[in-house]
Amino acid sequence: MSSSLKTSPGQNIRELLQSGEVIAALDWFTREADAITREHIEICSIPASPFQETARAEYLRDKFLELDLTEVEIDAEGNTIGLLKGNSLKPLIVVSAHLDTVFPPGTDFTVRRDGDILLAPGISDDGCGLAAVVAIARAFRKNNINTAGSVLFVCTVGEEGEGNLRGVRHLFTKSRWAKRVDAFLSFDGPGIDRITNRALGSRRYRVELHGTGGHSWGDFGIPNPVHALGRAIARLAAYPAPLEPRTTFNVGRIAGGTSVNAIPTSASMEVDLRSADDAELRRIDAYFRRTLGQSVDEENGERRTGDATLDVQLKLIGERPSGETSPESMIVELAQEATSLLGREARLDQSSTDSNLPISIGIPAITLGAGGTSGSSHTLDEWYDPRDRDMSLKRGFLLILGMVGTPK
Ligand SMILES: [Zn+2]
Repeated sequence: MSSSLKTSPGQNIRELLQSGEVIAALDWFTREADAITREHIEICSIPASPFQETARAEYLRDKFLELDLTEVEIDAEGNTIGLLKGNSLKPLIVVSAHLDTVFPPGTDFTVRRDGDILLAPGISDDGCGLAAVVAIARAFRKNNINTAGSVLFVCTVGEEGEGNLRGVRHLFTKSRWAKRVDAFLSFDGPGIDRITNRALGSRRYRVELHGTGGHSWGDFGIPNPVHALGRAIARLAAYPAPLEPRTTFNVGRIAGGTSVNAIPTSASMEVDLRSADDAELRRIDAYFRRTLGQSVDEENGERRTGDATLDVQLKLIGERPSGETSPESMIVELAQEATSLLGREARLDQSSTDSNLPISIGIPAITLGAGGTSGSSHTLDEWYDPRDRDMSLKRGFLLILGMVGTPK
C-alpha cells in the first residue's frame, strides 16, 4: 500500500479498503458497538462543567495510558493529550472532541437508559465525540494498524460558551505541538453525513453602564443607564442583517435598577454577534460599537448642567474567528470519499466548533458527527441513540488513515 499524501483521495480510501487488516479494523467497530456504548456511559457519568473538566480529563488520560499511547499528559490548559506514533511525526493530524458541557457544577450527570436510548446532560454534546476518540484510538491498537504519519488524540477543555475555545487555542498557540500539526479533525455531536468545513464566527460583549442614580421625580434629567441601554438595543434591533451571508445579533441578557421610582446607578447587557462571513462580522461589530457610543452620548447629551455623565465599560467576553477549509483540500475530499464509500451522501456545512481556531490560522480543519442521533441538546433532557454509530466511526477511521497513510 502506498503512502497516502501523493495520490488522489478517492484512490486512497479505495486502496485502503483493499487491505484485509483495514477491513478487520472496520468490522471491529460493529462488533464492539456495545462496549463502545458502555465506555460512552462511563465518560459521561463524570461531571464536566465549564472550567471544571479535570475529573473527566484524568479519566481519559488513564484510557490513553491503557492504550499505550505516548506523550500522554494533561497539558497546562487542561487538555488531555496522547500520541499514536507512526513511522514519522509527519504528517501529524489531531483527532479531538471536547471535554466540557454547558452545565453548571452541581448538575446530576448520571446516565439513564430508556431501551437503547441514553439520557444525560452532555450525552451527545460532546459525550459521543469523546467516545469516538477513544474508540478510534483503540481500533488502531487492537487491530495493530501501523501508520506512516502520526495521530495526536486530544480531548479539549473550554469549547462551550465562555470557555471561548481556550483548550484548542492553547494547543495551537502555546503548546509544544503548536507548530507541528498539519490537519485537525473534531468529533462534535451526532450524525454521519455532515462535514463542517466552514467556521461560524462570533463576537460576544458584556456592556456595563454606571451613573450616579437618583430619584425618578426629584432627580429627573440625570443620565439613566437603562435608558441608554434601551437606545443602544433599539439601534441594534434595527440593524439590516443580511440573510446571505447569514448574520445574526442577540441581546441575551439585560440587568439593572432596583426600584420603579429610582434612576438606576447601573445597567448591563450581554450581546452575541455572529456571521458566516468575516467581513460581515466586522461590519456588524463596528456598527454595534459605534451605535453604543452614540446611544450613551445621546443620553448624556440630555443631562442637566452639573450632572455626571455615564461611564461605559465594554468587555469582549467571546471571540470566535470565521473562515473556511477549502472543499478542495485533502481532508474535505477524503471525508467526502469515505462518506460515499460507506453509502451515504456527504453534506458540507457551517458551525461554531473547535475547528474555528485552526481554520483561522490556516490549518485544514473539519468537524464531523460522531454517529447516532440525538436531541434536546444543551438541556437536562439531552438524549442520544447509538444506532448505526459504527458507520461514523468507520468513516472517521478511514479518513484519519487516509490522511496519515500506511507504511510502504
Ligand atoms: Zn459541542
